Amino acid sequence: MLPSRLFVAFLFSLLASTSLAQTAPGAPFTGLKAEMASSIEAKAKMTQEIIDTLFSFSELGFQEFETQRYLTELLAANDFDIELGVSNIPSSWWASWGSGEPVIALGSDVDGIPRASQMPGVAYRQPMIEGAPGHGEGHNSGQAVNIVAALAVKEIMERENLPGTIVLWPGIAEELLATKAWYARDGLFDGVDAVLFTHVSNNMNVSWGDARGTGLVSVEYLFDGVAAHGAGDPWKGRSALDAVELLNVGWNFRREHLHPLQRSHYVISNGGDQPNVVPSFASVWYFIREITAENIMENFATLQRVAEGAAMMTDTTVSRKIVGAAWPRHFNRPIALAMDENIKTVGLPTWSEDDQRFAKALQTLMGSDNPQGLATDLSGIAEPQETPVSGGSDDIGDISWNVPTVTLRYPSNVRGLQGHHWSSAMAMATPIAHKGATAGAKVVAATMLDLIQDPSLVRDAQAYFDDVQTAEVQYEPFIGPEDAPAIEKNAEIMAQFKPRLEELYYDASRFDTYLDQLGIEYPQLEPNLIQRNQ
Ligand SMILES: [Zn+2]
Repeated sequence: MLPSRLFVAFLFSLLASTSLAQTAPGAPFTGLKAEMASSIEAKAKMTQEIIDTLFSFSELGFQEFETQRYLTELLAANDFDIELGVSNIPSSWWASWGSGEPVIALGSDVDGIPRASQMPGVAYRQPMIEGAPGHGEGHNSGQAVNIVAALAVKEIMERENLPGTIVLWPGIAEELLATKAWYARDGLFDGVDAVLFTHVSNNMNVSWGDARGTGLVSVEYLFDGVAAHGAGDPWKGRSALDAVELLNVGWNFRREHLHPLQRSHYVISNGGDQPNVVPSFASVWYFIREITAENIMENFATLQRVAEGAAMMTDTTVSRKIVGAAWPRHFNRPIALAMDENIKTVGLPTWSEDDQRFAKALQTLMGSDNPQGLATDLSGIAEPQETPVSGGSDDIGDISWNVPTVTLRYPSNVRGLQGHHWSSAMAMATPIAHKGATAGAKVVAATMLDLIQDPSLVRDAQAYFDDVQTAEVQYEPFIGPEDAPAIEKNAEIMAQFKPRLEELYYDASRFDTYLDQLGIEYPQLEPNLIQRNQ
């Protein structure tokens, strides 16, 4: 036995070293929050089923119809009122329950990534269906976080007779940044007091103020020319493809003289039919990203002039279609601080040895010499950046300028993988995704209880929104009243793959997990002949 003084000193040094290494844990939940946390633990099976089911649907943006059917049936069975097809987006929905204030709206994206089809739970590249879409971002997990949180809070509100309205809504076609600005334009969030948005990550945190990354305009330029025989009488032709190429050349020269934090990229969405026919139609699709709304609009105006110049040079005509729009994000300080306290209490999941072995195998696969495995220390609340950092966008930005909003990033994926890539799908129907979502659900539900039980939090959130966030910056949507959502996107790809995807849908009535259905011994680290259970 250690002498007591030495033992105390030893304990003290242990505490001191851990408190340096990680965020101090919060006080344990008591009262209604403790009850909520056990209720969410008891719903772990539901969390797993939602995550695995959405993973198996593998639906792309604007085509999330199986996802819509499955989730809205689940919500209707739990007494939510459902409106389908809001904002003229057929795969969207708006589910609400309760009455009075506060009105709390929980959102998360649901769409997948093209060509990201990947068998889950295996540490090597194996598409489930070659060339098919897959959940290479992990958008199959966020609705589980929100729905389970909402159901746990609803049980408590019913029993305690607490006023308040819970709304559940999906980020449709987030990978195209193509719906949330339309929701905002159409007034869906009028009367909402707070938006708690959730997004998959490899740690658990929240931020406030201007977020890292950019906003954007996503725009397709469509050129019309004149067809002709490419060899017989090409002088009679006016090539729409020439116009596309000149637009790209012009933009690539201009790029040198743009602010370095901008990001812009394009794909030629239509380059003509065959070489001996002068293309009478061609199109190119651009993302124009910048840090501030003002710079986005300035660069967009420049691109517009370059497009008109390309049309002039080729005697073609040009029109444009807005495909997506996203304001730079700004998150609410009072709600983020309240949520951070709940994050500290919930902490990161307890990962199993298998989870860690799997995570390290994925990191090795993706080129790491020193795989770190899954995060075991909370990364802490993210304060506003002193100097802006460029990067990706999320159309939650538009909502964040209409309602006090925060994004909870919850730990359902592995750090060090590649974004928008099949590697980011590998853990998304495994215990890592399931445990991370359960932790996220507790944080969301605890923050909902804060908003419901403490009216001053709702008031402070609104005051920050009115007096700080929007004191100098006024939200002006990038889209106009006539811009329609690009609901035709991805229809052909989904029509091509859906019959084969249907054969792989998760059947929760027959199999405990999707890994069981697929015959995968988690974690499967070496390629093996997989015998799918029938
Ligand atoms: Zn995302």
